[in-house]
Amino acid sequence: MDQHHLRIVTKLALLAEQNNRCVLCGKRDPNALHEWALKRGDLPKKRQEELANLLFSEINCVVLHNNPCHLAFGQTRWLEVEVAHYKQDQGHDVLAHFAAIRTAIPTWTSAAWDKKSNRLVGRIHGDFQAR
Ligand SMILES: [Zn+2]
Repeated sequence: MDQHHLRIVTKLALLAEQNNRCVLCGKRDPNALHEWALKRGDLPKKRQEELANLLFSEINCVVLHNNPCHLAFGQTRWLEVEVAHYKQDQGHDVLAHFAAIRTAIPTWTSAAWDKKSNRLVGRIHGDFQAR
């Protein structure tokens, strides 16, 4: 499946999972597929194609309203953490997803990974262990 169709299939599956509600504001008819964990912008184009199944997987994406939800909060760490918890509550294994990202991108140096995701993983891991 090419990336365009993969994105459509994932978006439809997520709209069903989210009951056609925006994960951020809870209102109906969200329209923007957002990569919250591994983002296209993290990867060169060639790797975006190779990793399309990871990028556009249900666990890696949520559907938000583009405006204002995604525009206002799409690039914030706060949203990443909120979505991580949401995904875990939906039955997805967020820590396994981060492990899959790490395996797929061994070239991310520990410094780059720390900067991007370790704090997030650490927070999530700590929260989940506390439950
Ligand atoms: Zn919204």
